Amino acid sequence: MHEMSLAESVREIVEDTARQHGAQRVSAVRLEIGALAQVEAEALRFAFDVVMRGSLAESARLDVVHTLGTAWCPRCSTSVSVAARGEPCPHCDSYQLQVTGGDRMRVVDIEIE
Ligand SMILES: [Zn+2]
Repeated sequence: MHEMSLAESVREIVEDTARQHGAQRVSAVRLEIGALAQVEAEALRFAFDVVMRGSLAESARLDVVHTLGTAWCPRCSTSVSVAARGEPCPHCDSYQLQVTGGDRMRVVDIEIE
């Protein structure tokens, strides 16, 4: 389950940020997950709760924002939205799409106390 290592890198980012701001506690973490990031949100929630134990973000609320995937279709010479990897172009059914966005997960912001 690679969500566990993703959650660990989230913890590092969250703890570094919290320390820089002299926070006592992190009350919420907002994550953006692209549709093409191949991250299972439920598995990530589980991993988040596990890795945050004993950290500044123990029992922090996890907000997940889902973003669309975007890709470039060379045949249509246009940018299209895709809901999942391996989907064809919605206009011409080409599978030669080049992913241009929505393939990452990132920490958007955190709430501290
Ligand atoms: Zn196309």
